[in-house]
Amino acid sequence: MTAKIIDGAVIAQQVYAALKQRVEALGRRGVKPGLAVVLVGNHPASEVYVRNKVRACADAGLHSEEYRLPLHCTEAEVLALLQRLNGDPKIHGILVQLPLPPQFNAQRVTQSIAPAKDVDGFGWTNLGALLTGDTIFAPCTPLGVMTMLDHIGVNPEGKEAVVIGRSTIVGKPLALMLMARNATVTVCHSRTPDLRGHALRADILAVAVGKAGMVGGDMVKPGAVVIDVGMNRLADGKLTGDVDFASASEVASWITPVPGGVGRMTVAMLIANTVTAAERTADNG
Ligand code: NDP
Repeated sequence: MTAKIIDGAVIAQQVYAALKQRVEALGRRGVKPGLAVVLVGNHPASEVYVRNKVRACADAGLHSEEYRLPLHCTEAEVLALLQRLNGDPKIHGILVQLPLPPQFNAQRVTQSIAPAKDVDGFGWTNLGALLTGDTIFAPCTPLGVMTMLDHIGVNPEGKEAVVIGRSTIVGKPLALMLMARNATVTVCHSRTPDLRGHALRADILAVAVGKAGMVGGDMVKPGAVVIDVGMNRLADGKLTGDVDFASASEVASWITPVPGGVGRMTVAMLIANTVTAAERTADNG
């Protein structure tokens, strides 16, 4: 079997096309969705992510503001900035690019974003709402994965889904979202014995670990849908996923490439969440 490619670039373009109409409708009401992006320090990967997000805002007709704070700024300075942005009517969504430098309490910083502007969906209010099924803003990467499944017509209901990785930003929320769509979900992590045995049961296998090529074709059930969330920079500068694409694509029915897969969707979902935030503000007067 040679897997079909789940093309994140193509699906993201469709998302943007649909968003364009919503942005235009907001424009007719005198509202331009605004996103504030806060970057502390100059982590090279974070610089790229922030640049991509700001560019995506411009392409989608959103207002964006970029705040770059020096590596050695204090947590109090970041919290004061967030407080100001929470009250700024031009800003509907706020994100703090992670990871933060080690002197920061990332939890405290994330919790300081007003839930109505927490378009990354990492704050406790948003995560708690996801748990109860009253989603406010779903975290962007898992939301992007669910959008990809919908796009290829794969309904998680009744499927065995295996998520490898249990981070708060990817693995856990993705597991909750798959469960909400009636998949039977197994979450694996670094202490899981027999990872391969679990993976081989998966109709939907999502990998979010951060280890290049750790899942090979021998861990994929024939016909499975393979979602590779991993983004790993190799010594030669190339970006690669957690799945060994060549061997897995011989066994899977569908597979996401890296680059050009989930990463594209993450940014599109951020823009979508920001537009939703602006619509809610406009609706509430
Ligand atoms: P974290 O480091 O926060 O979490 C990694 C998870 O993988 C942990 O739960 C860890 O287990 C688990 N893990 C580590 N080693 C193994 C192993 N040998 N077997 C099974 N599980 C293991 O990473 P993130 O969730 O933040 O990111 C994961 C990957 O996804 C990274 O490559 C990151 O760059 C990428 N990413 C991509 C995005 C995109 O837009 N495409 C967005 C966000 C992340 P334990 O909990 O036991 O430590």
